Amino acid sequence: MYNLILFGPPGSGKGTQAALLVKQYGFLHISTGDMFRFELKNNTPLGQEARAYMDRGDLVPDEVTIAMLRKRVEENPDVTGIIFDGFPRTDPQAEALNELMVELGSQINALILLDINQEEVINRILGRGATSGRADDLKVDTIRTRYENFINYTNPVYAYYDKMGLAHKIDGMQKIVQVAMAVDNIVAPKLED
Ligand code: ADP
Repeated sequence: MYNLILFGPPGSGKGTQAALLVKQYGFLHISTGDMFRFELKNNTPLGQEARAYMDRGDLVPDEVTIAMLRKRVEENPDVTGIIFDGFPRTDPQAEALNELMVELGSQINALILLDINQEEVINRILGRGATSGRADDLKVDTIRTRYENFINYTNPVYAYYDKMGLAHKIDGMQKIVQVAMAVDNIVAPKLED
């Protein structure tokens, strides 16, 4: 199994790159943001629990997010690989993912940071807000909170994987195809092992 974490601030292009990897390699794509939006749309108990956090641009509590992620992974035992998009976003989530990988007899192969600056985050998200249908893409305050939460809680996760020699950084300001080539330069060689 090849397991990849796509990492970066909101609007850094994780979903775009994940879709390209799914097409190329057939990996399972798990986006915790997409999962929460599905729960919200269907007004499930989990959606009701997550709504206030998401509306503010805050992180949903770890135990809720970890339980949801674990269930999705366990439901898909036969996949050749998983792309984690938007998870782990805190150190406790990274610890939980490690435990889950050990239980599965598997491992995280790489984390790729798509690096973009705050100005680009705000411009891109306001741009997609017009069409994304996401309430959290419309207000500058909410977008700022998401970026600040990324810097304060999520960024440390990079160091966690860097210590294990698994972290890679790519310039996320490049064109989509150039980012995709840089991602593939990391993924393809390890698949041949
Ligand atoms: P973004 O575009 O900000 O990267 P996502 O689509 O990944 O956003 O997630 C949207 C919202 O869902 C987040 O702002 C947060 O409230 C919640 N969320 C998603 N993933 C996580 C996670 N791993 N931990 C906590 N909350 C999460």
